Amino acid sequence: LQQRVPVPAARDEVHFLAVTLNEMIESLDTVFSRQRRFVADASHELRTPVAVIRSTTDVALLHATTQEEYISVLRNVNAEAERLGRLINDLLALARGDEGKTRLEREPVRLDLLADVVAANADTIAEDHHVTIYRAQLQPTTVMGDETRLIQMVMNLLDNAIIYSNAGGSVTLSVTSTAKEAIISIQDTGIGIDQEHLPHIFERFYRVDPARVRDAGGSSGLGLAIVDWTVQAHQGNIRVESQPGQGSTFIVTLPLAVEAPVKESVLVGGR
Ligand code: ADP
Repeated sequence: LQQRVPVPAARDEVHFLAVTLNEMIESLDTVFSRQRRFVADASHELRTPVAVIRSTTDVALLHATTQEEYISVLRNVNAEAERLGRLINDLLALARGDEGKTRLEREPVRLDLLADVVAANADTIAEDHHVTIYRAQLQPTTVMGDETRLIQMVMNLLDNAIIYSNAGGSVTLSVTSTAKEAIISIQDTGIGIDQEHLPHIFERFYRVDPARVRDAGGSSGLGLAIVDWTVQAHQGNIRVESQPGQGSTFIVTLPLAVEAPVKESVLVGGR
């Protein structure tokens, strides 16, 4: 879609029609090029683990002789297959979201209890990275949300807080609320994010430092894109405060569950 409609000089209806058409073509162009980039990035990400599996098994078939050597190759293949699986799951989750096929299963969810359970699950990964998770404040807070999606949201944010921390660091989790909103905050003392990267970190496959991600055990590069999707689908908001070398804080706000109004007849009947 490169062509534009010629815009007549006279400021009549045809002029405005041509301008409007050109604006529509431009926004279609943007959507198409974003989609093309996503497909190119996704293909590249999918090819990497497959290439690793091919090359390690090729080498093993030619040279491996001992059981230890075979076991080491199998471990490698297993790790790459796991990475591939995670990537495909994340891609599917986003594709379904794009299509509008993911319907939220909304129910009252105690965000504080959910965060506590996710943090307990993340404790093992944190220990591996020599990072401590603190539950600063977990106030009883209920939102109307999709529990599975919210678990994944908190998990992605906690995983990042741990992975992008240095040994000896800490992650502080809190769930509080105002009159209208639930606030979940995940603060780390990690590597932080430079100002120039902050506007991009929610983009699909955007990584500040691709080399570090692979060292850290390879996440998909889609974690924050999924978090962002989940927050928007819940009519919430997300913001980040970060200082390079000091750490980052991700703050999600979600609308609180409002109690269903009690019918007057019930009130009257109850007296
Ligand atoms: P990834 O799979 O690379 O972690 P994400 O979408 O979760 O993908 O995050 C995108 C990028 O944002 C990461 O590659 C990393 O550079 C940066 N990032 C995310 N969370 C943090 C954090 N808590 N501290 C520092 N950098 C972070």
